[in-house]
Amino acid sequence: MRYSGFRILKEALTGHKGWGHAWRDPEPQASYDYIIVGGGGHGLATAYYLAKEFKQARIAVLEKGYLGGGNVGRNTTIIRSNYLLDGNEPFYEFSLKLWEGLEQDFNYNAMVSQRGIINLIHTDAARDAATRRGNAMILNGADAELLNRDQVRAMYPFLNFDNARFPIKGALMQRRGGTVRHDAVAWGYARGADGFGVDLIQNCEVTGMRIENGKILGVETSRGFIGAKKVGVAVAGSSSKVMAHAGVRLPMESHVLQAFVSEGLKPLIDGVMTFGAGHFYVSQSDKGGLVFGGDIDGYNSYAQRGNLPVVEDVIEGGMALMPMIGRARLLRTWGGIMDMSMDGSPIIDKTPIDGLYFNGGWCYGGFKATPASGWCFAHLLAKDEPHVTAKAYRFDRFLKGLMIDEKGQGAQPNLH
Ligand SMILES: Cc1cc2nc3c(=O)[nH]c(=O)nc-3n(C[C@H](O)[C@H](O)[C@H](O)COP(=O)(O)OP(=O)(O)OC[C@H]3O[C@@H](n4cnc5c(N)ncnc54)[C@H](O)[C@@H]3O)c2cc1C
Repeated sequence: MRYSGFRILKEALTGHKGWGHAWRDPEPQASYDYIIVGGGGHGLATAYYLAKEFKQARIAVLEKGYLGGGNVGRNTTIIRSNYLLDGNEPFYEFSLKLWEGLEQDFNYNAMVSQRGIINLIHTDAARDAATRRGNAMILNGADAELLNRDQVRAMYPFLNFDNARFPIKGALMQRRGGTVRHDAVAWGYARGADGFGVDLIQNCEVTGMRIENGKILGVETSRGFIGAKKVGVAVAGSSSKVMAHAGVRLPMESHVLQAFVSEGLKPLIDGVMTFGAGHFYVSQSDKGGLVFGGDIDGYNSYAQRGNLPVVEDVIEGGMALMPMIGRARLLRTWGGIMDMSMDGSPIIDKTPIDGLYFNGGWCYGGFKATPASGWCFAHLLAKDEPHVTAKAYRFDRFLKGLMIDEKGQGAQPNLH
Protein backbone atom coordinates (compact mmCIF):
# COMPACT_ATOMS: atom_id res chain seq x y z
CA MET A 1 0.00 0.00 0.00
CA ARG A 2 1.35 3.45 -0.92
CA TYR A 3 0.91 6.17 1.69
CA SER A 4 -0.39 9.49 0.32
CA GLY A 5 -2.61 12.42 1.17
CA PHE A 6 -5.32 10.84 -0.97
CA ARG A 7 -5.02 7.59 0.98
CA ILE A 8 -5.46 9.42 4.32
CA LEU A 9 -8.59 11.13 3.00
CA LYS A 10 -9.99 7.87 1.70
CA GLU A 11 -9.33 6.06 4.98
CA ALA A 12 -10.80 8.95 6.98
CA LEU A 13 -14.01 8.66 4.98
CA THR A 14 -14.19 4.86 5.21
CA GLY A 15 -13.55 4.31 8.93
CA HIS A 16 -9.79 3.59 8.71
CA LYS A 17 -10.44 -0.05 7.85
CA GLY A 18 -7.96 -0.26 4.99
CA TRP A 19 -4.65 0.23 6.81
CA GLY A 20 -2.52 -2.92 6.84
CA HIS A 21 0.51 -3.82 8.94
CA ALA A 22 3.59 -1.80 7.99
CA TRP A 23 5.64 -5.01 7.68
CA ARG A 24 5.11 -8.79 7.96
CA ASP A 25 6.21 -10.91 10.92
CA PRO A 26 7.66 -13.93 9.09
CA GLU A 27 9.11 -17.15 10.50
CA PRO A 28 12.82 -17.51 9.67
CA GLN A 29 13.61 -19.69 6.65
CA ALA A 30 16.30 -22.38 6.74
CA SER A 31 18.70 -20.23 4.77
CA TYR A 32 19.13 -16.93 2.94
CA ASP A 33 21.55 -15.41 0.44
CA TYR A 34 22.11 -12.48 2.80
CA ILE A 35 21.66 -12.19 6.54
CA ILE A 36 21.97 -8.74 8.12
CA VAL A 37 22.50 -8.93 11.88
CA GLY A 38 20.94 -5.93 13.67
CA GLY A 39 17.60 -4.26 13.00
CA GLY A 40 18.75 -0.71 13.73
CA GLY A 41 18.91 2.07 11.18
CA HIS A 42 22.04 0.77 9.49
CA GLY A 43 20.92 -2.88 9.24
CA LEU A 44 17.48 -1.95 7.89
CA ALA A 45 18.91 0.57 5.41
CA THR A 46 21.40 -2.06 4.21
CA ALA A 47 18.63 -4.58 3.57
CA TYR A 48 16.49 -1.94 1.85
CA TYR A 49 19.24 -0.82 -0.56
CA LEU A 50 20.45 -4.39 -1.14
CA ALA A 51 16.98 -5.24 -2.43
CA LYS A 52 16.06 -1.96 -4.09
CA GLU A 53 19.30 -0.62 -5.57
CA PHE A 54 21.40 -3.75 -5.95
CA LYS A 55 18.50 -6.06 -6.95
CA GLN A 56 19.46 -8.82 -4.51
CA ALA A 57 16.90 -11.24 -3.02
CA ARG A 58 16.55 -13.84 -0.24
CA ILE A 59 17.54 -11.32 2.44
CA ALA A 60 16.77 -11.42 6.19
CA VAL A 61 17.39 -8.93 8.99
CA LEU A 62 17.81 -10.61 12.39
CA GLU A 63 17.07 -8.38 15.39
CA LYS A 64 17.48 -9.55 18.98
CA GLY A 65 14.76 -7.22 20.30
CA TYR A 66 12.32 -5.10 18.33
CA LEU A 67 13.08 -3.01 15.25
CA GLY A 68 14.37 0.41 16.21
CA GLY A 69 14.89 -0.40 19.91
CA GLY A 70 18.61 0.42 19.76
CA ASN A 71 20.43 3.66 19.08
CA VAL A 72 18.37 4.52 16.02
CA GLY A 73 15.51 5.29 18.39
CA ARG A 74 17.70 6.79 21.13
CA ASN A 75 19.75 9.48 19.43
CA THR A 76 19.29 13.25 19.38
CA THR A 77 18.23 13.14 15.71
CA ILE A 78 20.85 15.49 14.24
CA ILE A 79 21.90 15.20 10.60
CA ARG A 80 24.73 17.18 8.99
CA SER A 81 27.76 16.79 6.74
CA ASN A 82 30.13 19.31 8.32
CA TYR A 83 33.27 17.13 8.34
CA LEU A 84 36.81 18.20 7.58
CA LEU A 85 38.75 15.16 6.40
CA ASP A 86 38.71 13.69 2.90
CA GLY A 87 38.00 10.23 4.28
CA ASN A 88 34.77 11.48 5.86
CA GLU A 89 33.30 14.51 4.09
CA PRO A 90 32.29 12.90 0.74
CA PHE A 91 30.63 10.05 2.63
CA TYR A 92 28.58 12.30 4.95
CA GLU A 93 27.63 14.59 2.07
CA PHE A 94 26.43 11.51 0.14
CA SER A 95 24.36 10.67 3.21
CA LEU A 96 22.87 14.17 3.44
CA LYS A 97 21.87 14.00 -0.22
CA LEU A 98 20.15 10.67 0.44
CA TRP A 99 18.30 12.20 3.43
CA GLU A 100 17.03 14.94 1.11
CA GLY A 101 15.14 12.46 -1.08
CA LEU A 102 14.52 9.74 1.49
CA GLU A 103 10.86 10.26 2.33
CA GLN A 104 9.81 10.14 -1.32
CA ASP A 105 12.13 7.19 -1.89
CA PHE A 106 10.74 4.94 0.84
CA ASN A 107 7.27 6.55 0.94
CA TYR A 108 7.27 7.31 4.64
CA ASN A 109 7.12 10.56 6.59
CA ALA A 110 10.39 10.64 8.55
CA MET A 111 10.00 14.37 9.30
CA VAL A 112 13.30 15.28 7.63
CA SER A 113 13.71 18.91 8.68
CA GLN A 114 16.64 20.88 7.23
CA ARG A 115 16.41 23.56 9.87
CA GLY A 116 20.14 24.37 9.84
CA ILE A 117 22.96 23.66 12.26
CA ILE A 118 25.43 26.13 13.74
CA ASN A 119 28.72 25.37 15.50
CA LEU A 120 29.55 28.30 17.74
CA ILE A 121 33.00 29.92 17.67
CA HIS A 122 34.52 31.32 20.88
CA THR A 123 38.13 32.19 19.96
CA ASP A 124 40.02 33.57 16.97
CA ALA A 125 41.85 30.27 16.57
CA ALA A 126 38.50 28.47 16.51
CA ARG A 127 37.35 30.83 13.75
CA ASP A 128 40.39 29.84 11.67
CA ALA A 129 39.60 26.17 12.21
CA ALA A 130 35.93 26.72 11.32
CA THR A 131 36.94 28.57 8.14
CA ARG A 132 39.17 25.67 7.14
CA ARG A 133 36.39 23.17 7.82
CA GLY A 134 33.87 25.25 5.86
CA ASN A 135 36.24 25.42 2.88
CA ALA A 136 36.77 21.65 3.00
CA MET A 137 33.00 21.17 3.01
CA ILE A 138 32.50 23.49 0.02
CA LEU A 139 35.31 21.73 -1.89
CA ASN A 140 33.40 18.49 -1.40
CA GLY A 141 30.14 19.93 -2.71
CA ALA A 142 28.51 20.63 0.68
CA ASP A 143 27.20 24.01 1.86
CA ALA A 144 28.90 26.05 4.58
CA GLU A 145 28.63 29.64 5.77
CA LEU A 146 30.65 31.61 8.29
CA LEU A 147 28.42 33.79 10.49
CA ASN A 148 29.67 36.78 12.45
CA ARG A 149 28.62 37.60 15.99
CA ASP A 150 25.76 39.90 14.91
CA GLN A 151 24.30 37.27 12.61
CA VAL A 152 24.31 34.73 15.46
CA ARG A 153 22.80 37.33 17.81
CA ALA A 154 19.99 37.97 15.33
CA MET A 155 19.17 34.25 15.36
CA TYR A 156 19.57 33.51 19.07
CA PRO A 157 19.58 36.78 21.09
CA PHE A 158 19.31 34.92 24.41
CA LEU A 159 22.76 33.29 24.22
CA ASN A 160 25.44 34.41 26.67
CA PHE A 161 27.47 36.41 24.13
CA ASP A 162 29.66 38.17 26.68
CA ASN A 163 30.52 35.18 28.85
CA ALA A 164 34.00 36.10 30.16
CA ARG A 165 35.45 32.65 29.49
CA PHE A 166 33.53 31.68 26.33
CA PRO A 167 32.48 34.84 24.43
CA ILE A 168 30.56 34.03 21.24
CA LYS A 169 32.45 35.36 18.22
CA GLY A 170 30.49 33.77 15.37
CA ALA A 171 29.52 30.37 14.02
CA LEU A 172 29.98 27.93 11.18
CA MET A 173 26.57 27.19 9.71
CA GLN A 174 25.33 24.41 7.49
CA ARG A 175 21.80 25.32 6.41
CA ARG A 176 21.13 21.87 4.94
CA GLY A 177 21.79 20.19 8.30
CA GLY A 178 18.92 19.60 10.69
CA THR A 179 16.92 16.87 12.39
CA VAL A 180 14.94 13.78 11.43
CA ARG A 181 12.42 11.86 13.50
CA HIS A 182 14.74 8.98 14.43
CA ASP A 183 12.39 6.02 14.95
CA ALA A 184 10.43 6.88 11.79
CA VAL A 185 13.69 6.24 9.91
CA ALA A 186 13.75 2.67 11.22
CA TRP A 187 10.06 2.22 10.43
CA GLY A 188 10.39 3.70 6.94
CA TYR A 189 13.34 1.49 6.00
CA ALA A 190 11.64 -1.54 7.59
CA ARG A 191 8.45 -1.00 5.65
CA GLY A 192 10.39 -0.32 2.45
CA ALA A 193 12.57 -3.42 2.85
CA ASP A 194 9.55 -5.60 3.63
CA GLY A 195 7.92 -4.32 0.45
CA PHE A 196 10.90 -5.71 -1.51
CA GLY A 197 10.47 -9.13 0.16
CA VAL A 198 13.08 -8.81 2.93
CA ASP A 199 12.23 -10.96 5.98
CA LEU A 200 12.46 -8.82 9.15
CA ILE A 201 12.81 -11.27 12.04
CA GLN A 202 12.45 -9.76 15.50
CA ASN A 203 13.25 -11.42 18.84
CA CYS A 204 15.97 -13.38 17.09
CA GLU A 205 19.34 -12.95 18.78
CA VAL A 206 22.48 -14.11 17.00
CA THR A 207 24.30 -16.25 19.56
CA GLY A 208 27.03 -17.79 17.43
CA MET A 209 28.49 -18.11 13.95
CA ARG A 210 29.10 -21.32 12.05
CA ILE A 211 32.43 -21.03 10.26
CA GLU A 212 34.19 -23.84 8.40
CA ASN A 213 37.52 -23.63 6.56
CA GLY A 214 37.53 -19.86 6.95
CA LYS A 215 34.08 -19.43 5.40
CA ILE A 216 30.83 -18.47 7.10
CA LEU A 217 27.97 -20.94 6.68
CA GLY A 218 25.33 -19.18 8.75
CA VAL A 219 24.45 -17.99 12.24
CA GLU A 220 23.24 -19.67 15.43
CA THR A 221 20.28 -17.78 16.83
CA SER A 222 17.79 -17.93 19.69
CA ARG A 223 15.42 -19.33 17.03
CA GLY A 224 17.81 -21.98 15.70
CA PHE A 225 20.49 -22.15 13.00
CA ILE A 226 19.95 -20.04 9.89
CA GLY A 227 22.21 -20.62 6.88
CA ALA A 228 23.56 -17.78 4.74
CA LYS A 229 25.91 -17.21 1.82
CA LYS A 230 26.86 -13.79 3.18
CA VAL A 231 26.44 -12.27 6.65
CA GLY A 232 26.64 -8.53 7.32
CA VAL A 233 26.96 -7.41 10.95
CA ALA A 234 25.53 -3.95 11.83
CA VAL A 235 24.89 -4.07 15.57
CA ALA A 236 26.36 -0.71 16.70
CA GLY A 237 27.17 -0.84 20.45
CA SER A 238 27.16 -4.65 20.49
CA SER A 239 29.78 -4.94 17.73
CA SER A 240 32.55 -6.42 19.89
CA LYS A 241 30.22 -9.02 21.42
CA VAL A 242 28.78 -10.19 18.09
CA MET A 243 32.11 -10.24 16.23
CA ALA A 244 33.62 -12.24 19.10
CA HIS A 245 31.37 -15.12 17.90
CA ALA A 246 33.60 -15.17 14.80
CA GLY A 247 36.80 -14.74 16.78
CA VAL A 248 37.31 -11.21 15.42
CA ARG A 249 38.67 -8.64 17.87
CA LEU A 250 37.74 -5.06 17.00
CA PRO A 251 39.62 -1.77 17.52
CA MET A 252 36.60 -0.55 19.44
CA GLU A 253 35.13 0.06 22.91
CA SER A 254 31.49 0.25 24.02
CA HIS A 255 30.49 3.35 26.00
CA VAL A 256 27.21 4.92 27.15
CA LEU A 257 25.99 8.19 25.65
CA GLN A 258 23.09 9.97 27.30
CA ALA A 259 20.39 12.22 25.84
CA PHE A 260 18.18 14.74 27.65
CA VAL A 261 14.78 16.31 27.05
CA SER A 262 13.37 19.29 28.95
CA GLU A 263 9.74 20.11 29.58
CA GLY A 264 7.92 21.64 26.60
CA LEU A 265 8.75 25.32 26.05
CA LYS A 266 7.52 27.92 23.59
CA PRO A 267 9.49 27.98 20.28
CA LEU A 268 13.00 29.13 21.14
CA ILE A 269 15.56 27.34 18.99
CA ASP A 270 14.53 26.71 15.42
CA GLY A 271 17.74 24.97 14.33
CA VAL A 272 20.48 22.88 15.89
CA MET A 273 23.23 24.57 17.91
CA THR A 274 26.51 23.26 19.28
CA PHE A 275 28.65 24.90 21.96
CA GLY A 276 32.22 25.32 20.75
CA ALA A 277 33.97 25.45 24.11
CA GLY A 278 32.58 22.31 25.69
CA HIS A 279 30.53 19.35 24.61
CA PHE A 280 26.88 20.46 24.47
CA TYR A 281 24.46 20.43 21.56
CA VAL A 282 20.78 21.37 21.55
CA SER A 283 17.72 21.56 19.34
CA GLN A 284 14.02 21.90 20.09
CA SER A 285 11.54 19.18 19.25
CA ASP A 286 8.23 19.88 17.56
CA LYS A 287 6.56 19.25 20.94
CA GLY A 288 8.67 22.02 22.50
CA GLY A 289 11.17 20.02 24.54
CA LEU A 290 14.82 21.06 24.37
CA VAL A 291 16.67 17.96 23.16
CA PHE A 292 20.31 18.03 24.17
CA GLY A 293 23.39 15.97 24.88
CA GLY A 294 27.14 16.04 25.44
CA ASP A 295 29.95 13.65 26.26
CA ILE A 296 29.92 9.87 26.67
CA ASP A 297 30.05 8.66 30.25
CA GLY A 298 33.70 7.74 29.79
CA TYR A 299 33.81 4.15 31.03
CA ASN A 300 33.08 0.93 29.17
CA SER A 301 29.54 -0.35 29.59
CA TYR A 302 26.69 -2.19 27.89
CA ALA A 303 24.03 -0.49 30.04
CA GLN A 304 21.48 1.64 28.19
CA ARG A 305 21.42 4.23 30.96
CA GLY A 306 24.02 6.67 32.22
CA ASN A 307 25.25 8.27 35.44
CA LEU A 308 24.87 11.60 37.23
CA PRO A 309 28.38 13.12 36.80
CA VAL A 310 27.79 13.41 33.05
CA VAL A 311 24.33 14.87 33.64
CA GLU A 312 26.02 17.62 35.66
CA ASP A 313 28.75 18.08 33.05
CA VAL A 314 26.27 18.43 30.17
CA ILE A 315 24.03 20.83 32.08
CA GLU A 316 27.10 22.95 32.94
CA GLY A 317 27.77 23.30 29.21
CA GLY A 318 24.15 24.31 28.67
CA MET A 319 24.27 26.86 31.50
CA ALA A 320 27.46 28.46 30.11
CA LEU A 321 25.80 28.92 26.74
CA MET A 322 22.21 29.78 27.61
CA PRO A 323 21.87 30.42 31.35
CA MET A 324 18.07 30.42 31.29
CA ILE A 325 18.14 26.68 30.61
CA GLY A 326 18.58 26.41 34.38
CA ARG A 327 14.93 27.45 34.78
CA ALA A 328 13.65 24.56 32.64
CA ARG A 329 12.83 21.22 34.20
CA LEU A 330 14.51 18.11 32.87
CA LEU A 331 11.82 15.68 31.80
CA ARG A 332 13.61 12.60 30.51
CA THR A 333 17.10 11.15 30.10
CA TRP A 334 18.21 7.87 28.60
CA GLY A 335 21.34 6.21 27.29
CA GLY A 336 22.50 4.23 24.28
CA ILE A 337 25.55 2.02 23.74
CA MET A 338 28.09 3.60 21.43
CA ASP A 339 30.57 1.64 19.34
CA MET A 340 33.55 3.96 19.86
CA SER A 341 36.37 3.30 17.38
CA MET A 342 39.96 4.27 18.07
CA ASP A 343 40.00 7.20 15.65
CA GLY A 344 36.36 8.26 15.93
CA SER A 345 35.50 7.09 12.39
CA PRO A 346 33.57 4.01 11.25
CA ILE A 347 34.48 0.74 9.55
CA ILE A 348 32.60 -0.72 6.55
CA ASP A 349 34.71 -3.63 5.39
CA LYS A 350 35.15 -7.33 4.72
CA THR A 351 36.57 -9.42 7.56
CA PRO A 352 39.23 -12.16 7.39
CA ILE A 353 36.33 -14.67 7.27
CA ASP A 354 35.02 -15.35 3.79
CA GLY A 355 31.40 -14.13 3.51
CA LEU A 356 31.43 -12.15 6.78
CA TYR A 357 31.22 -8.35 6.53
CA PHE A 358 31.28 -5.67 9.20
CA ASN A 359 29.70 -2.24 9.63
CA GLY A 360 30.30 -0.34 12.89
CA GLY A 361 32.38 2.08 14.90
CA TRP A 362 29.92 4.95 14.38
CA CYS A 363 30.63 6.55 17.75
CA TYR A 364 28.09 9.31 18.42
CA GLY A 365 27.66 10.17 14.77
CA GLY A 366 25.98 7.21 13.15
CA PHE A 367 22.42 8.45 12.85
CA LYS A 368 23.23 11.04 10.19
CA ALA A 369 25.18 8.33 8.38
CA THR A 370 22.27 5.88 8.22
CA PRO A 371 21.34 6.23 4.51
CA ALA A 372 24.93 6.25 3.20
CA SER A 373 25.99 3.52 5.62
CA GLY A 374 23.18 1.29 4.37
CA TRP A 375 23.93 2.10 0.74
CA CYS A 376 27.69 1.56 1.05
CA PHE A 377 27.34 -1.64 3.09
CA ALA A 378 24.85 -3.00 0.54
CA HIS A 379 27.33 -2.07 -2.22
CA LEU A 380 30.10 -3.99 -0.43
CA LEU A 381 27.88 -7.03 0.21
CA ALA A 382 26.54 -7.17 -3.34
CA LYS A 383 29.71 -6.31 -5.31
CA ASP A 384 32.48 -7.31 -2.91
CA GLU A 385 34.12 -3.93 -3.37
CA PRO A 386 33.80 -0.71 -1.37
CA HIS A 387 31.64 2.19 -2.50
CA VAL A 388 33.74 5.13 -3.66
CA THR A 389 32.75 7.30 -0.65
CA ALA A 390 33.50 4.57 1.92
CA LYS A 391 36.91 3.44 0.65
CA ALA A 392 38.75 4.81 3.68
CA TYR A 393 36.61 2.93 6.22
CA ARG A 394 38.84 -0.15 6.27
CA PHE A 395 40.10 -2.30 9.14
CA ASP A 396 43.70 -2.07 7.97
CA ARG A 397 43.89 1.71 8.41
CA PHE A 398 44.83 1.08 12.05
CA LEU A 399 47.63 -1.25 10.95
CA LYS A 400 48.89 1.18 8.32
CA GLY A 401 48.56 4.31 10.45
CA LEU A 402 45.98 5.85 8.10
CA MET A 403 43.68 7.07 10.87
CA ILE A 404 40.68 9.28 10.07
CA ASP A 405 40.90 11.29 13.26
CA GLU A 406 38.63 14.36 12.80
CA LYS A 407 39.48 15.75 16.20
CA GLY A 408 43.17 14.88 16.16
CA GLN A 409 42.91 13.36 19.61
CA GLY A 410 44.49 9.98 19.00
CA ALA A 411 43.31 6.56 20.10
CA GLN A 412 41.14 7.82 22.97
CA PRO A 413 37.44 7.00 22.51
CA ASN A 414 36.48 9.08 25.53
CA LEU A 415 37.83 12.18 23.75
CA HIS A 416 36.22 11.69 20.33
C1 LIG B 1 22.02 9.50 23.19
C2 LIG B 1 22.50 9.37 21.78
C3 LIG B 1 22.50 10.49 20.95
C4 LIG B 1 22.95 10.38 19.65
N1 LIG B 1 22.83 11.48 18.82
C5 LIG B 1 23.16 11.38 17.52
C6 LIG B 1 22.94 12.48 16.65
O1 LIG B 1 22.37 13.50 17.03
N2 LIG B 1 23.33 12.35 15.34
C7 LIG B 1 23.93 11.24 14.88
O2 LIG B 1 24.32 11.21 13.73
N3 LIG B 1 24.12 10.16 15.69
C8 LIG B 1 23.74 10.19 16.99
N4 LIG B 1 23.89 9.10 17.80
C9 LIG B 1 24.53 7.88 17.28
C10 LIG B 1 23.59 6.99 16.48
O3 LIG B 1 22.36 6.84 17.14
C11 LIG B 1 24.24 5.62 16.26
O4 LIG B 1 25.55 5.77 15.78
C12 LIG B 1 23.48 4.78 15.23
O5 LIG B 1 22.09 4.79 15.49
C13 LIG B 1 24.02 3.36 15.26
O6 LIG B 1 23.52 2.55 14.20
P1 LIG B 1 22.15 1.71 14.27
O7 LIG B 1 21.02 2.65 14.08
O8 LIG B 1 22.19 0.62 13.28
O9 LIG B 1 22.22 1.14 15.74
P2 LIG B 1 21.12 0.42 16.63
O10 LIG B 1 19.77 1.06 16.47
O11 LIG B 1 21.67 0.33 18.01
O12 LIG B 1 21.03 -1.00 15.95
C14 LIG B 1 21.80 -2.13 16.30
C15 LIG B 1 20.81 -3.25 16.54
O13 LIG B 1 21.53 -4.49 16.69
C16 LIG B 1 20.78 -5.28 17.58
N5 LIG B 1 21.63 -6.37 18.08
C17 LIG B 1 22.65 -6.29 18.97
N6 LIG B 1 23.16 -7.50 19.20
C18 LIG B 1 22.45 -8.38 18.44
C19 LIG B 1 22.50 -9.79 18.26
N7 LIG B 1 23.39 -10.56 18.92
N8 LIG B 1 21.61 -10.35 17.41
C20 LIG B 1 20.70 -9.61 16.73
N9 LIG B 1 20.61 -8.27 16.88
C21 LIG B 1 21.48 -7.66 17.72
C22 LIG B 1 20.34 -4.30 18.66
O14 LIG B 1 19.24 -4.80 19.40
C23 LIG B 1 20.01 -3.06 17.84
O15 LIG B 1 18.62 -2.98 17.52
C24 LIG B 1 23.44 9.15 19.13
C25 LIG B 1 23.41 8.03 19.95
C26 LIG B 1 22.94 8.12 21.27
C27 LIG B 1 22.88 6.90 22.13
